[in-house]
Amino acid sequence: MVATPIGNLEDITLRAIKVLKKVDVIAAEDTRHTLKLLNHLEINKPLISYYKQNEKTKSNILIEKILKGESIALVSDAGTPAISDPGEEVVKEAIKNNIDIVPIPGACAAINALIASGIDTKQFVFIGFLPVNKKEKLEKLEEVKNLKQTLIFYEAPHKLINTLEAVSEILGNRKIVLAREITKIHEEYIRGNILDILKKVENPKGEFVIIIEGSNKNEKNEKQIILNNLTLEEHYEYYKKLNYEKKEIIKKIAKDREKNKNEIYQYFLNK
Ligand code: SAM
Repeated sequence: MVATPIGNLEDITLRAIKVLKKVDVIAAEDTRHTLKLLNHLEINKPLISYYKQNEKTKSNILIEKILKGESIALVSDAGTPAISDPGEEVVKEAIKNNIDIVPIPGACAAINALIASGIDTKQFVFIGFLPVNKKEKLEKLEEVKNLKQTLIFYEAPHKLINTLEAVSEILGNRKIVLAREITKIHEEYIRGNILDILKKVENPKGEFVIIIEGSNKNEKNEKQIILNNLTLEEHYEYYKKLNYEKKEIIKKIAKDREKNKNEIYQYFLNK
């Protein structure tokens, strides 16, 4: 499983070049696409095409070849194979046949977008492409909306606006980063909340990864539960220690307890 560049031809490892030169056959998602990379690297090898639609049948051919003693490097059009790209089926079949699978690490748009995003990298969930069907897309977003981890999506430029609108509808106006054309000439990171970004990006062009900050709803709920278990005086003291003015404190208590702020105001007035 050999990773190839996601835009800049220099992003190929020495090991990937060595492996591509050494194997008997290169299995490529699109042979014409891979041929450009191989020509650049001056590598001349037999190519077999495989792609998502014929992955199952092609897996058998690849496996037969390996069982006969040939070695195969599998590449996708760009980046890491099997990540929103074909490759997964071949690996599963190969393992059933006791064939060794070796990853040759390299570029992956999701990881590179994440590390440059400035959004939490400690924990993240890779979603890849959202379904095209509107109902399924919204369902998927509902499924991930309460996750605390950073979310990573791939999206085609002509669907970007529609997807960002769906994200803001379901997840709210979260902080996001659009990582565009990573490693290429027009590389750019657009940071901000979704609604501001929607105003900025009118006619998206190029390749995009969307990084979205995780939900902090559960944290808020936990904090609220603790505060609401205090007496009103203790609740008041909590915000006082945080240097809030009386008016602000009353507003905050009312919000935490889902009460009318006049009710809270009256309570403290009578004290
Ligand atoms: N296997 C690839 C990888 O490792 O990143 C991803 C393949 S997937 C079919 C293609 C999607 O990846 C694009 O639609 C885009 O969302 C993202 N992508 C790939 N290259 C990119 C780049 N240079 N800049 C931004 N996004 C990129």
